[in-house]
Amino acid sequence: MRSTTWALDADDRLTASNMHEISIAQNVIDHVSRVVPPSDLVRVGRIRLRVGIMSGVVAHSLDFCFGALTHGTPLEGATLDIEERPFIVRCRTCKARSTNELGVAVCEECGSTDTQIESGTELDIVHLELSRQVSP
Ligand SMILES: [Zn+2]
Repeated sequence: MRSTTWALDADDRLTASNMHEISIAQNVIDHVSRVVPPSDLVRVGRIRLRVGIMSGVVAHSLDFCFGALTHGTPLEGATLDIEERPFIVRCRTCKARSTNELGVAVCEECGSTDTQIESGTELDIVHLELSRQVSP
């Protein structure tokens, strides 16, 4: 089992206000640690995430938490590349696609509630870069 070092500067604190991002950052770390062989973890560079606007993730907060949680681990220095995805609803009645930032799944064209959420709720790791140079 891998231990996590919580080494933070006085100004940087992991608080209840970013608990959501802490657990997501930990999930990303766990996932990467499962798919990348331990000896290659130090080479993980950019981790591209696709984060739906409705997932409630604050990108800069997630970035901060990831940095704090990876400090002193083989993943230290890896960076997150967060792509925010809009909330898009597709109407089953008129086939229109509409964006509604409030997350209301009602068709903007015809008002139908027979809709399907196309994006905006996802939280996926879409790409991992193993390119970071390891200093000798
Ligand atoms: Zn419609």
